[in-house]
Amino acid sequence: MKELWFSEYHSPNVRFDFRIKRELYSGESEYQHIHIFDSYEFGRVLVLDGCVMVTERDEFIYHEMLVHVPMSVHPDVKRVLVIGAGDGGTLKQLCRYPDIEAIDLVEIDGDVIDVCREFLPHLASSFDDPRVAIHITDGLRFVRHCQDAYDLILVDSTDPFGPGEGLFTREFFGNCYHALEADGILVNQHESPYYRSDAREVRKAHANTREIFEIQRLYQAHIPTYPSGHWLFGFMSKHYHPLDDFEAQRFLNRELVCDYYNPELHRGAFALPSYVQRLLNEDDDDESEV
Ligand code: SAM
Repeated sequence: MKELWFSEYHSPNVRFDFRIKRELYSGESEYQHIHIFDSYEFGRVLVLDGCVMVTERDEFIYHEMLVHVPMSVHPDVKRVLVIGAGDGGTLKQLCRYPDIEAIDLVEIDGDVIDVCREFLPHLASSFDDPRVAIHITDGLRFVRHCQDAYDLILVDSTDPFGPGEGLFTREFFGNCYHALEADGILVNQHESPYYRSDAREVRKAHANTREIFEIQRLYQAHIPTYPSGHWLFGFMSKHYHPLDDFEAQRFLNRELVCDYYNPELHRGAFALPSYVQRLLNEDDDDESEV
């Protein structure tokens, strides 16, 4: 039988291939090409415009780190804004917190939600939670009209090109600042520091959040199916510090079973490699080797 492989370029000279059993869905939405594959190693995989977004095998790493880090720092999250996140994985982790009262999910492409409901039902299992309101629109536009409305904003977007490009701009981060309560926290997926073009995006995004938030720290996780596996998250806060205000007992008291996140890892995730620290302190026009 002919072997089927999926390939994604992680850099112009590096390709990531994995063998697939079959293609379950392929379609062009208004914004992007949507693929769902069934793979031998990673289970079902969502691919948007040729980039792996989420796999059944390693999604827990990304979604646990996006959600449980801020939820273990802010003591009283009631209202959350989630931007992107059409696969449902972020929502699934958030809905494990009974104290959360309302979640606005703003996804630009309704087709992604529909396809994930059908082909990734275990992940896309919380869209019908009564606390969730789904808005099919551009997150950049949505957040322009929000003021002091949220305790937490999570940006689970695609990469900074195509529909996701606006979600890494100074305008967007500034509007998120105003959309947050006085002690609010913003966490975004902040790309990867390893390959040169990705590192440039990290540096640009980091520069765009500087001077907006009182506290701004990056943390990291190892995500096997993302370029280089080394992935960053941006923790931007108006009041709470991700380590000084982190209380392990607050997380432990909730008795949430996680397969990646734990209090020791929370602390360790904020210890960035020296080359990443240097990257964040470089000026944008510095093309030094990363
Ligand atoms: N975990 C993935 C990652 O880190 O790349 C992201 C997964 S989720 C599927 C990304 C979602 O962001 C997509 O469904 C995409 O349609 C959505 N998106 C991209 N740009 C957006 C925008 N401007 N407003 C709202 N949603 C957007």
